[in-house]
Amino acid sequence: MTPALAQDQAGIAGVLEHTLQDALRVIASLDTRAVACATAPQAPQALSRTGTGFASALADFNARYAAGFAASAGPRYLGFVTGGATPAALAADWLVSCYDQNPTSGIDGSAPDLERETLAQLRELFGLDNGFSGAFVTGATLSNFVGLALGREWVGEHRGLQVSESGIAALGAVHILSGAPHSSIFKAASMLGLGRQAVETLPLLAGREAVDIAALEARLAGLQGEACIVVANAGTVNSVDFDDLAAIGALRERYPFWLHIDAAFGAFAALAPAAADRVNGLSEADSICIDLHKWLNVPYDAAVQFTRRQDLQLRVFRNSAAYLGAPGATPDFVHLTPENSRRLRALPTWFALRAYGRDGVRDIVERCIRHAQRLAAHIDASPDFVALAPTRLNVVCFTLRDNAEGAAGEAKVQSFVMRVRDAGEAFVTPTFHHGRWGVRAAFSNWRTRDEDVERVWLALKAALPD
Ligand SMILES: *Cc1c(COP(=O)(O)O)cnc(C)c1O
Repeated sequence: MTPALAQDQAGIAGVLEHTLQDALRVIASLDTRAVACATAPQAPQALSRTGTGFASALADFNARYAAGFAASAGPRYLGFVTGGATPAALAADWLVSCYDQNPTSGIDGSAPDLERETLAQLRELFGLDNGFSGAFVTGATLSNFVGLALGREWVGEHRGLQVSESGIAALGAVHILSGAPHSSIFKAASMLGLGRQAVETLPLLAGREAVDIAALEARLAGLQGEACIVVANAGTVNSVDFDDLAAIGALRERYPFWLHIDAAFGAFAALAPAAADRVNGLSEADSICIDLHKWLNVPYDAAVQFTRRQDLQLRVFRNSAAYLGAPGATPDFVHLTPENSRRLRALPTWFALRAYGRDGVRDIVERCIRHAQRLAAHIDASPDFVALAPTRLNVVCFTLRDNAEGAAGEAKVQSFVMRVRDAGEAFVTPTFHHGRWGVRAAFSNWRTRDEDVERVWLALKAALPD
């Protein structure tokens, strides 16, 4: 053992204590430090020959990088859809590395059982029946990828072939129909060999991001019985709109399609009684995507995918090797998702659900909705801003009043967002919605309080162009 490693082994208590103190300092700074910042690229350091041990590595990390990190775990980071980490989830994430389990198979311990218990609790949280099986993946992109891979296999079944065995060349083109799909659907189509062009975006209801059911039905009828994939959206990123999931589910009586529902953060509407009707019909799905590192507030990276067709999943993802054994009635996770070895991704979720329960999750969701409504009320009452969409759930989508269309409007929004960022009080992201450039403020962090919404509002006003 080299001296640096031997010294850290002997001083492990000091290493962890030191990390604890540093972590507490970071958490305490979330209220006061810049929420995001522009950083100059660091001159990359060359590889160390001997290493210098943990303490000096931490000092170097703090000096060169940590100060330039975004406070994305904090209460006023409203870019993208970004969750934080509740205390139990954060502590559990440390334990993940401490135990360093590989839950690929259950041959050596109970880690996969913990994942199964967590998946069953998530099913309950979202009101899904036992017909759904689930697995952990890194994020909604991978969850969508797995769901569409199952859809591809299912379409193959309709055409009398197993795509997992014979490959996509024999499959031919597959139509993927959706109203306002997330960008990751196109990426998944590309990765699956179906191609981005396979994704057909259908007409939306007027002024909405929800698919026009009549247009969907007309397209399905036009396919004349050809099996296809429909991606229904439960929570779009700009206006958090929801397709009519029950109506789409009902179409399956007349048309053959695999129904994948992207409910990355929209699934959490099920927790808020005032919004729960939006996800009526969620269990009509053949596959469902739900992110956990967003609204559940577990650290990156965690999402879940559910399906009713684990048999298809085994065909696609089965990993044959003598030492892994044949997948039995309760298949090991190695046979269900793209990963082979991986971390015990379920543990932070297990702790969060155990520590805070359904009520704790519901409280976070309802507070975020309230914060979004509060900011939206400011926007609506202001002569300087205008809403681009109604605030349906946790995202406020707005723009500068009288903002131009096209490149001029884009430039104005970009510089507004950068001024907000550089002032350090809040972080929001630009977007393009129904032909206009605008700004999104997404509330999904458990720490956000009413005072933070007021701070965000002041920061937005202060960043207005002169
Ligand atoms: C965030 C999001 C995704 C992608 O999620 P990642 O976790 O970043 O991979 C997909 N769909 C929707 C609706 C999302 O909001």
